[in-house]
Amino acid sequence: MNSIATQQLLDSAYIVATVLFILAIKWLGSPVTARRGVLAGEIAAALAVGATLCNPELVDYKWIIITLVIGAGIGIPLGMVHMTAVPQRTALSHAFGALSAALIGIAEYYVGVPHVTRFGMAEIGLEVIIGSLTFTGSLIAAGKLQEILPQRPIVYKGQNLVSLSVLGAAILIMIILVVHPEYSHLFPAMVGVALVFGVLLVTPIGGADMPTVISLLNSYAGFSAALLGFVLNSKVLVVAGALDGSSGFILSVIMCKAMNRSFMNVMFGAFGQEHIAAKGAGEERPVRSATPEEAAGILAAASTVVIVPGYGMAVAQAQHKVREIYDILTKRGIDVKFGIHPVAGRMPGHMNVLLAEADIPYDKLLDMDEINGEFPQADVALVIGANDVTNPAARTETSSPIFGMPILDVDKARTVMVIKRSMAAGFAGIDNPLYYLDKTLMLFGDAKGFVGSIIRELSGGGSHG
Ligand code: NAP
Repeated sequence: MNSIATQQLLDSAYIVATVLFILAIKWLGSPVTARRGVLAGEIAAALAVGATLCNPELVDYKWIIITLVIGAGIGIPLGMVHMTAVPQRTALSHAFGALSAALIGIAEYYVGVPHVTRFGMAEIGLEVIIGSLTFTGSLIAAGKLQEILPQRPIVYKGQNLVSLSVLGAAILIMIILVVHPEYSHLFPAMVGVALVFGVLLVTPIGGADMPTVISLLNSYAGFSAALLGFVLNSKVLVVAGALDGSSGFILSVIMCKAMNRSFMNVMFGAFGQEHIAAKGAGEERPVRSATPEEAAGILAAASTVVIVPGYGMAVAQAQHKVREIYDILTKRGIDVKFGIHPVAGRMPGHMNVLLAEADIPYDKLLDMDEINGEFPQADVALVIGANDVTNPAARTETSSPIFGMPILDVDKARTVMVIKRSMAAGFAGIDNPLYYLDKTLMLFGDAKGFVGSIIRELSGGGSHG
């Protein structure tokens, strides 16, 4: 009786957690409700973990407490990394999530063998293969993003054939195990081959594609968790894993579309190879540069300004200065909007998060499709630390590695001002013809410092070097 009541209470907690997970994903879809979404997700995770810890089948908490302390010891510092390191941090989280899913699947097999059913073996096999390849794949992705490993795609002849053969071998071993679940000597081989496949899967992909790969690995980790939910008969894990898996997959599709790439091209195209050659081949061409005073004068005379932020704004943490310049210009009656490219920065929504942190009104942040029609009427396009997402070569140069990627049409504005520290290339490693146009003024300097100097000029404080 008592245990039935406890079970009902736990089931109710799981149902509430499941509903909150679904609401969290929905609310995270808009900046207006995103905070609520984060909170709902946190409460759902706490409820699901809490309910699992209250399971009457749990008799010994010693190991749980030890692993909790180790996990918190790793997780708390990871949660405090700089915003620009979030992509690699996310890759590491996926690696740990996938590792735990794989380890639980492995434990389930060894606890159950030789009485594992064929159906159970198929579930465990798929789950362990996906978990293992996601673990090593995510570690390689994190290493590339942290630049511990070379960012360039590492390719060799016949690579796709080798990789697919390794995946085929893992699946073949799994099929043998499904027919003969008691062949426990084959199990470590299946895990090992899947781990190797994770390395082979991500090594040939260039650094520029890592955020898309991470999103895809996120999706794999989610599906692996959902499969684990079937193995453990945990409905909340099935739902949370499926939500994670499908949302990660949808995000990868959106990112591929924003870069005008196909999945196949991201996974097998070795994007980034050509860039090394392109980087070295750049010849010196003259550009026009301007001082903060000149830039302030041009902005003060404008009636419409579109600000285009990019990765450099994130590096410089210039979002609060950008908010200040927005306020000053708006007070002068100038119409100021922001053009947000879906892959500006180093992770999806990077610019939205930073600008929201600086309290820029959401209705001033316009997506690429909305803002592109407005550039021809804009007096000034002020590019702050963005490069690739403004590169007109994507429209015209068929040989460019970013050819076909939709860009923000800043070159159609009457005047273009670009704040960056040097003529260095952006993430794709290629030159930007925008900088050599007659209408373009280069404002060389750190984004935060340069915007600060313009603000001083606009406020009449005028000291500059
Ligand atoms: P970007 O092309 O990487 O260019 C950023 C520019 O910022 C650099 O040229 C750099 O020039 C400048 N910069 C760096 N630090 C700065 C500072 N402190 N102050 C001022 N400028 C600074 O960035 P993006 O235009 O945002 O494009 C994003 C790239 O990432 C695209 O190639 C996109 O495909 C790729 N990507 C993004 C995602 C995503 O989810 N967001 C996903 C996949 C791929 P200097 O060194 O001269 O200053």
